[in-house]
Amino acid sequence: MSEALITRRGALGLAGAAGVYAALAPMFDLCAAPLAYKLEPVPLADGVWMIAGAQEAITRANGGAIANVVVLDTSDGAVVVDTGPSKRYGEALQALARQLTGKPVVRAYLTHFHPDHVFGSQAFGGGALASTEGVAKGLRLLGDDFAAAMYHIAGDWMRGTEVELPGRIISEGSEQIGGRKLTFLPLGGHTPSDLAILDESSGLLLAGDLVFLDRAPTTPHAKLVPGHGPAEKGVRGIAQTRDWLDAIETLIRDAFEKGLDMAEASALPLPPWAEKMALARYELERSVMHLYPKLEAREWPRVDRKA
Ligand SMILES: [Zn+2]
Repeated sequence: MSEALITRRGALGLAGAAGVYAALAPMFDLCAAPLAYKLEPVPLADGVWMIAGAQEAITRANGGAIANVVVLDTSDGAVVVDTGPSKRYGEALQALARQLTGKPVVRAYLTHFHPDHVFGSQAFGGGALASTEGVAKGLRLLGDDFAAAMYHIAGDWMRGTEVELPGRIISEGSEQIGGRKLTFLPLGGHTPSDLAILDESSGLLLAGDLVFLDRAPTTPHAKLVPGHGPAEKGVRGIAQTRDWLDAIETLIRDAFEKGLDMAEASALPLPPWAEKMALARYELERSVMHLYPKLEAREWPRVDRKA
């Protein structure tokens, strides 16, 4: 390791400054090009737009813009649901909301505390930012770690991004903003605290990344906007989320009981309908990494302690 480092330093020294700059020039060109998110609003209902996230994992190419974000128009100002992955994204979202509604954003709700949904919040300020106590607590505890992870993966897109804590804590109930009544459904499942929001005027259910399982909100909705993936009429999103979770939980538990290791479990075939889903293999691998240690902790005897 150190030998390679010395050799490399020696080589750089020999190459001289001109050579070094020539070698680095393409990198500087890359940095000089301003990074810009292309936010394309799709109308969902009267005065409601969705900006769809890429159906991808977070990468340096997509700048972390993988989650759906929603803009709502009200007579008092624009409302956004989730703020995106970075300060830069939040600023672009603020500009887009103003362009769509002619008004600045007066309220930004966070559906949960995952980094692809919360790091645009600086553009709106803590006073406009609302979340459940659970989300605020999650941000206080893990926000800096999430930010560090995002800088590591998405790089320069994250420049200037810091954790913004919500100045407004919401729970059950609703908020009336400029003629639009938004009803809060504080739930849990995807994270310890997830917020779904029903826009009473359009009937849209803004579900964030919520895992519905058996605690599906039975509130009727005209269309469901998931945290990732297309907005649709009907309950296909809820059913598919539940089916996926059932399928991978069974698959991972069986693999664990058969004594397969994590790499073997991650390589198992999924049901054909699940194989067709975007990021299926990637999410199975992540689930194996999450669930195996839990199964081991629960099922395996501790060798360092007497029972
Ligand atoms: Zn999430």
